[in-house]
Amino acid sequence: MRIILKLEPNSLYDSIHELVRMAYPGCEIVCGEGEGDLMLELRLDIDDKAAVIAAQIHTAQGARTRRERCAIAADIGAGLFNWAKQQVRAFTYDLLCELTGENINRYGILTGMRPVKLAHRLFDQGLNPREIEKRLGSDYRLDPEKAHLLVEIAKANRPYLLGADEAGKWVSIYLGIPYCPSRCYYCSFPGAVLTNYETEIIPFLEALFREIRALSGYLKERGLKVQTVYLGGGTPTVLSTYHLERLFAELVACGYITAQTAEITVEAGRPDTLDLHKLRALKANGVNRICINPQSMNDNTLAVIGRNHDQKGVIKSLEWVREVGIEKINMDVIIGLPGEGLTENTNTAQQILRLEPDNITVHTLALKKGSLMAEKENGITPQERTRQVEAGVELFSDLLRGAGFIPYYLYRQKYMKASMENLGYARPGSFCLYNIQMIEERQTIIGLGGGAGSKFIDLKAGSLESFYNPKNPAAYCQTVEQLISRKVDKLRALN
Ligand code: SF4
Repeated sequence: MRIILKLEPNSLYDSIHELVRMAYPGCEIVCGEGEGDLMLELRLDIDDKAAVIAAQIHTAQGARTRRERCAIAADIGAGLFNWAKQQVRAFTYDLLCELTGENINRYGILTGMRPVKLAHRLFDQGLNPREIEKRLGSDYRLDPEKAHLLVEIAKANRPYLLGADEAGKWVSIYLGIPYCPSRCYYCSFPGAVLTNYETEIIPFLEALFREIRALSGYLKERGLKVQTVYLGGGTPTVLSTYHLERLFAELVACGYITAQTAEITVEAGRPDTLDLHKLRALKANGVNRICINPQSMNDNTLAVIGRNHDQKGVIKSLEWVREVGIEKINMDVIIGLPGEGLTENTNTAQQILRLEPDNITVHTLALKKGSLMAEKENGITPQERTRQVEAGVELFSDLLRGAGFIPYYLYRQKYMKASMENLGYARPGSFCLYNIQMIEERQTIIGLGGGAGSKFIDLKAGSLESFYNPKNPAAYCQTVEQLISRKVDKLRALN
């Protein structure tokens, strides 16, 4: 399907194109002149008293128009243009729901990754939970269930957000090890498959250690403390025990890990990279949270998605983690894996609950361009798949809540079907601090290593800038000096 957008002003494109994509998944969207199956002409005019939004829609069935006049509040001030864009989004959302005859997005006009941030903003403005849910429905068009979920999560994680004074004194550190032992079929793959340990890992670690040492100077200069350290990837546990110990020694020597560091997480996503010896080393180096990610507890599925382990490997890893005494365990699962429906989801949920982790992160499969599976998906209609995924999400929610878990962080992805979300559940008191800081974006995160993302939060200016290291290890090694100086410049510019 080809959709032509004629917008006045053109800058409205950023506000509405994602909604159009949600209404017509897979469509081609063209801005300007041309032939299409549907043409949407949209115009925004603002005068002293109101924003006037007018649309003309042309389809094979004919043309129709819609017009709305939104009064401008007397105290709107500098927020006028953002308010007007929000009105255009709400107008477009209503129009697209009417055209398609369905709710195009249960999150209403929110299409970004972090919808909970809006609930926090409304809490900051002094609204109570009931008022926030109402506002999310009326102004942002969320359905009541999603509005309630956002408020529930914001309420749960607000106590862990630092106030402006404290937030300026703390940072979190993300370390990216962009290697995996093999490629899982559903993954758009953040880095490289490790083929030769010596020739790949040694130069990568040299570059990483250069970055670690250089950025520690900035922390000392500003007197900053590290609240959490998160070792992600890729699969960080592809590193040998020796190199993991060297990495932690470097982090301690450079002042990233101190007695004040509240949480050190290691993603050990693939059980095929673990052994008892390695886990002992992690525990001895202060790791207090570990992610063992089965994705599914069905061996057939694990084989189909290219994981080099079975469910017994997951159970064994958990036994080792308990034996060495790492305090908190997270387990990731994915709903929507090929061949999986409610029976398989139930088996996964029940087996995982029997293992009693502290956190369970429930992902809905977002088939990103570039994943092998997106290229292969067939045999099931998008509507069937959507229904399956929605049923699986509901099943996990019921079982996990019934077992005492509560949702505490949420993010969405592009290409996410079924208007779904990735949802982190935890037992009360077992929340992952890093996940909260990373998703709610109220603390600077310094990313070091391959594919590592940094977020520079300027609390006084109320601004945020993201910065990403190359995920390709060779590109990372070649550019590490420039990365260091650009990052230090950005950090020094923060108020
Ligand atoms: S282990 Fe994780 S990062 Fe690596 S290929 Fe599999 S899903 Fe992707």
